[in-house]
Amino acid sequence: MQTQNPPTGHPTSHHADDNAVIKAVDIHGDHRLGLYVALVFARDVTPVKPKVLVIVNINRLDHGVVAGVIVDGKIVKWLKLPDVSVVKELKRLHQRVRELEKRAAREIDPAGRARLEEEVGRLKSKRFGVIRDAVVKMAKELVGLAVKYHAAIVVDGIDERTYSARKQSGEGGARKHLYDGLGQLRRRLQRLAQWYGLPYREVRLYSTVCPRCGAKMREAGGRRMQCPACGFSDHRDNIPIYWAKRRYWEILQKQPVFSAITLLTRKFLHL
Ligand SMILES: [Zn+2]
Repeated sequence: MQTQNPPTGHPTSHHADDNAVIKAVDIHGDHRLGLYVALVFARDVTPVKPKVLVIVNINRLDHGVVAGVIVDGKIVKWLKLPDVSVVKELKRLHQRVRELEKRAAREIDPAGRARLEEEVGRLKSKRFGVIRDAVVKMAKELVGLAVKYHAAIVVDGIDERTYSARKQSGEGGARKHLYDGLGQLRRRLQRLAQWYGLPYREVRLYSTVCPRCGAKMREAGGRRMQCPACGFSDHRDNIPIYWAKRRYWEILQKQPVFSAITLLTRKFLHL
């Protein structure tokens, strides 16, 4: 028997169903799945009225995800995800894929080329798995933090249009896979937030405007930003967290993306 949902990677999946009750039972026939029963669970959650924000700056995977916990307008915790080892592993796989692709393109012997292409396919699915695992782990850690602090989850990320434009651009060609996890992470955060009754918000926060004085900042090399007006300087990926701190009250009062009190999830019981 297979079950689907709640999404895997729950911080507390062992009691995720504590107050879930079966609201409906549907029997379906499906050419792919065969006959199955869909149990519709409803979980009553009390929506959190947050005083704390967990800000997540979703970035290209090799630049990592920077997150901050803001309590009463103060940043009390910083996180940088995923592990350096994961980023290294992704870079290594990426490099290996490119090498083998080049070799396959030059290979004259059809059998030799087929072997190389097969290896490329294997490494690509491995890379996909690494990205997926990293996303699951990051979402779990971030939502776990939000549950602990009864916080709203606030995602600052590139919007869907920028995301697909970059994926299709030259940069996207070589580094496309580094963007692949971003949409996954955002969707996962949203779904888990909903499951736990945590408010979820998406905001655009500056990364090149000085959070101290509002002047346009300059790149100072190594992804550091420096303000020519007041001298403030920090890593580019940290700037949005300072902006969230500055906009703390406004973000707290923003309407969540969803405000469901009763959440539905389905469990598929394959017969
Ligand atoms: Zn400044």
